[in-house]
Amino acid sequence: MFPGSEQLRREADKCVKCGLCAPHCPTYLLEANENESPRGRIALMQGLASGQLSATPALHAHLQHCLTCRACERACPAGVRFAPMLDKTRDVLRRSHPPGWQERFGLWWVAHRRLWGGFTHLIQLLRAIGLLNILQQSRIFYRLGLTSLQRLVDLVPPRQPNPRVINVTSAHRQGRVALFTGCMGQVLDSAGVAAARRLLNRLGYEVVIPSAQTCCGALHQHNGDTATALQLAKQNVACFEQLQVDAILYLASGCGAQLSEYASLPWEDGHLQTQAETLIQKFNDATSFINTALTQPKIKLRPLNARVAVHESCTQRNVLHNTTNTYALLQHIAEITLTPLPSNAQCCGAAGSYLLTQAARANALREKKIAPWLQDPTDFIVSNNAGCRIHLAEAVKANSPDVEVLHPLELLERQLEID
Ligand code: SF4
Ligand code: SF4
Repeated sequence: MFPGSEQLRREADKCVKCGLCAPHCPTYLLEANENESPRGRIALMQGLASGQLSATPALHAHLQHCLTCRACERACPAGVRFAPMLDKTRDVLRRSHPPGWQERFGLWWVAHRRLWGGFTHLIQLLRAIGLLNILQQSRIFYRLGLTSLQRLVDLVPPRQPNPRVINVTSAHRQGRVALFTGCMGQVLDSAGVAAARRLLNRLGYEVVIPSAQTCCGALHQHNGDTATALQLAKQNVACFEQLQVDAILYLASGCGAQLSEYASLPWEDGHLQTQAETLIQKFNDATSFINTALTQPKIKLRPLNARVAVHESCTQRNVLHNTTNTYALLQHIAEITLTPLPSNAQCCGAAGSYLLTQAARANALREKKIAPWLQDPTDFIVSNNAGCRIHLAEAVKANSPDVEVLHPLELLERQLEID
């Protein structure tokens, strides 16, 4: 029994144990183990909340293996909300079983956005002077036991500079928008951010990238650190609430999912909660926003005779319920052939920090995911979520070095005709 266990049990009691979610659960499909299924995990959480089970290492591991992909929520006919139960249980387990220093340091690090900037500058410098290759080949961080850091160094793409305010050059000014880049947008997705600001600018929007913004808090929330997730949400509300903008656009669907659920965080202050609820109305997917703006033909796009596979992230499918935006956006390019990435219903294994903390499982899930694509590769893969994109890109590069894995806005921006 623990604070909030009654509420958890009430939610868990909605589960009628039908098992319809199991074939949609990536971890169950990996091992065919009931404890690795949504139904099994709900039973484990019920046992913990009622005091019938204790937090053994095995129970802890089964709950840690969950990707929080929420495919089970989408499949569940009883409307069981799995993610809030898991977040709550992880929050409780985090107190009794504190995570290792690497995980604690990692979460502290992402909550301090400026440190990320310094980290990428260092990576770019090492890359420029040729030391990064040597470090990667030596696997020095693996040897030192810093496996997550090694993975990160391997995955960080080249960085593009993004000024904080980008004024409109177009004659027809449409408005002013802010970009939500969170903790890692400028690190893992700087090319996508650059493409978004150029497109928005050409469409007549002034773009602001406020420096006071911070991580959306999704990584903390799903790793059981609700207190920090709330702290970060407060910082973002304070930052964006004072901006005079028409919309706040996110590029990563993982951030978008967290931002869209800010109202359900445990706000102790009613005024702040109201501010958060009002702000949520302004959050929008950059892909959807630009797609709508493109319906007024102000810019010209060059045709692209290429096949493009569209990755639908779990947060797009199971939380935001917006998988059509990418297809609609890229349909503006003449001659393009769009196809869903096979196995779109299955998580690729990136899942926030999962690709770092559960690297072997993340790679096994990725292999399953891209195996059907490898039978019939396309010229490009696009994905709206930075974490999924770098995770997929690593495997795609190893098999098909010429295939690029991009944010859809990057692909669209490349087709812009010069004025
Ligand atoms: S589909 Fe829903 S009700 Fe059925 S076992 Fe899964 S979580 Fe429980
Ligand atoms: S969130 Fe995903 S991995 Fe976790 S139990 Fe549900 S379907 Fe399985």
